[in-house]
Amino acid sequence: MQIKDNLERALNFFFPNECAICGTDIKPSSLICDNCRIEISSSGPSVTVEKHKCCDVYYFSIYDGKLRELILSYKSGRWRLHKILSRLFLKLFEYYPPYPLLTYIPSTTSSLEERGFDHMKLIAKHLSKKSGLVLKKALIPAKDDRQYGKNMLERKKLSEKYYSHCTSKEITLIDDVYTTGATIRDAVSALRRSGAAKVKVYILAKAKG
Ligand SMILES: [Zn+2]
Repeated sequence: MQIKDNLERALNFFFPNECAICGTDIKPSSLICDNCRIEISSSGPSVTVEKHKCCDVYYFSIYDGKLRELILSYKSGRWRLHKILSRLFLKLFEYYPPYPLLTYIPSTTSSLEERGFDHMKLIAKHLSKKSGLVLKKALIPAKDDRQYGKNMLERKKLSEKYYSHCTSKEITLIDDVYTTGATIRDAVSALRRSGAAKVKVYILAKAKG
């Protein structure tokens, strides 16, 4: 135990590390401190379920406090935080069982260039590994596909935000923040156009209305 403590102290000295949220000193292998982790994981899952005609929407918590800071920190480049966010989805799945096929809201090319990684894809990959759900890239941002817009039908598609070639009937869709719901509406309508009958949407944080 003594040796382990000394080793940890030495590591902390050579590799100082701080909580991505509050800045407290933490072990080199950690991402956030225990206080922040406990506060975030006990803030959900929310009991609010929104039943829409097109889909059911489940939330982990509201977009506020430490959860908001965690999401912002992740999106600003601390990509390793995807594991912590993925765990929140797992907790949500325990309460509200998902469909076996998992997909995510993809980043557009411009945000991909800015951020350097597809933030929901990274979470979805980890989540698929941990939950056993089958991951599929079912949504494509329409903007990224302009070159295919050659005829009238294709041009009509361009006014839509996403499109899909996925023919699965039941789909689990994840996203980080729900603000106006426009993104989810566009995504779900693309999935339904390509054949989905039921979509369950899981969100990490809902913006306070
Ligand atoms: Zn902290």
